[in-house]
Amino acid sequence: AKALGKNNHQYFDSELERSSNQQLQVENHLREAIGNDEFHLNYQPKIDLKSNAIIGFEALLRWNRAGGMNTPDIFIPVAEQTGLINEIGDWVLKQVCSDVKKWLELGYGLLPVAINVSPVEFRNKKLVEQIKATIIEYGIPPEAIEIEITESLFLDNISFVKEILKDLRDFGISVAVDDFGTGYSSLQYLHELPIDILKIDKSFILDLSNQPHNAAIADSIINLAHNLGLKVVAEGIENQASMSFLKHRGCDIGQGFFMYKPMRSEELMELIV
Ligand code: C2E
Ligand code: CA
Ligand code: CA
Ligand code: CA
Repeated sequence: AKALGKNNHQYFDSELERSSNQQLQVENHLREAIGNDEFHLNYQPKIDLKSNAIIGFEALLRWNRAGGMNTPDIFIPVAEQTGLINEIGDWVLKQVCSDVKKWLELGYGLLPVAINVSPVEFRNKKLVEQIKATIIEYGIPPEAIEIEITESLFLDNISFVKEILKDLRDFGISVAVDDFGTGYSSLQYLHELPIDILKIDKSFILDLSNQPHNAAIADSIINLAHNLGLKVVAEGIENQASMSFLKHRGCDIGQGFFMYKPMRSEELMELIV
């Protein structure tokens, strides 16, 4: 048993070493990426589940670098740990504002774009000021921007979070709680914090029709949101069965590969002509 323990220990050490080397490599590449124009945004349409009309988009970051580390689920956590997320978040907001400005100039109607803001970015005391300044600089209406936050943010200083969200909202930016149902939120926060939208996590939606528990949870979140006067979005709709269920239960907005995959701004413009 002792030998096994020792082997396990060695195994862990080399695993740890490998993952920290990998992290260091991602970190170094990420630093270059910002200056080298290696990022672009994809936009995924959100639809009104009553009319099927496109009512907005979510901006999703893409990193144009070959290799297995370039998916956001891998590089965003590294960006968060290293603080690079602040620069990256800034780039994302500017790119979104620039795209929205272009769409408006071309005569498209105003369709809000949701941006994912990491809890780490909220540690920057100037976040709100910077967001407002950027929106003003690009001359787009604040209503064109939504932010998606995660429940983990509620673990931080709650009165600070409340103040920031209120400030953003007074400016005209709406606030969605992303990945709802997977995190830490106490229901008390939902009522205390100035938020507009709950986004049901895709883990409850992906295989909803074969998973009665997930269907029950999705249904409960829809009712919870409506009882609190919030809108509710379901993400990860991959099939007709999920979409029908959500429509039937009164979910307001849907997002998923069944309707639209995330796409480049150019493709999107063809779609909304
Ligand atoms: P998220 O905010 O929950 O974004 C939704 C994810 O679900 C996206 O993955 C999207 O491509 C994917 N998705 C959409 N519809 C479906 C579907 O029908 N089925 C399945 N299986 N997946 C679907 P993506 O683009 O890989 O992003 C992963 C995560 O990375 C995001 O999860 C978000 O947490 C983070 N992320 C992406 N872009 C940004 C960004 O600009 N800033 C920050 N801070 N985080 C970002
Ligand atoms: Ca999101
Ligand atoms: Ca999500
Ligand atoms: Ca997520």
